[in-house]
Amino acid sequence: MTDRKDELAGNLAKVEQRIADACAAAGRARDEVTLIVVTKTYPASDVRILSELGVRHVAENRDQDAAPKAAACADLPLAWHFVGQLQTNKVRSVVGYADVVQSVDRSRLVTALSKEAVKAGREIGCLLQVALDAGVSGRGERGGVAPGGIEELADLVAGSPGLRLDGLMTVAPLTGEYAGRQRAAFERLMDLSTDLRRAHPAANMVSAGMSADLEDAVAAGATHVRVGTAVLGVRPRLG
Ligand SMILES: *Cc1c(COP(=O)(O)O)cnc(C)c1O
Repeated sequence: MTDRKDELAGNLAKVEQRIADACAAAGRARDEVTLIVVTKTYPASDVRILSELGVRHVAENRDQDAAPKAAACADLPLAWHFVGQLQTNKVRSVVGYADVVQSVDRSRLVTALSKEAVKAGREIGCLLQVALDAGVSGRGERGGVAPGGIEELADLVAGSPGLRLDGLMTVAPLTGEYAGRQRAAFERLMDLSTDLRRAHPAANMVSAGMSADLEDAVAAGATHVRVGTAVLGVRPRLG
């Protein structure tokens, strides 16, 4: 193995162990939790190695970086998740490679995604990004719909051709009542997911937890964790 492949294999094994331990501690089966490796800022060559090591889900947060990377890796059996704030002028490009958009947070974005998905003949999975630091009806610092806006946005996605409502996503807030309280934040997301599934039973994905707090997310009931740094290393710049 190359040095980089060794390094990634070692990091993946450690993350896998953390997920397995967290599942065991929570009394959950390991296969209830899917690892998504966040490859932002890292090259397509790393994505290729991760695929060889058995990774099946990768995530990116900037279309400019993600589009060429996804094109370079089009031969690999990977699901691509888009997890960044998404401008409507990037939607056409993102719909070209993303299987799931985890950052759906406003009706204008839903309309644009639906239009482009239909044009491309694709079905795009959508997670509503929930801002737990937003006011009752506002939006979060880093995007996201306030809890009070979930129901309306979910109905819109569910009724939009080309889109599939898959569930909810959140990033642990840095401000507001949940700052520094990841476990409580993820438990709140689970409660919101329970509410959502009353009207949309198939929307059962709960994406929460990153390198620093994946254990809290698994304990709360997350179905998907998004891990970057712990697999690929500390990013050279914020991304
Ligand atoms: C970068 C990023 C992650 C991964 O964060 P790490 O701390 O590197 O594990 C997860 N989710 C989103 C939305 C991100 O932008």
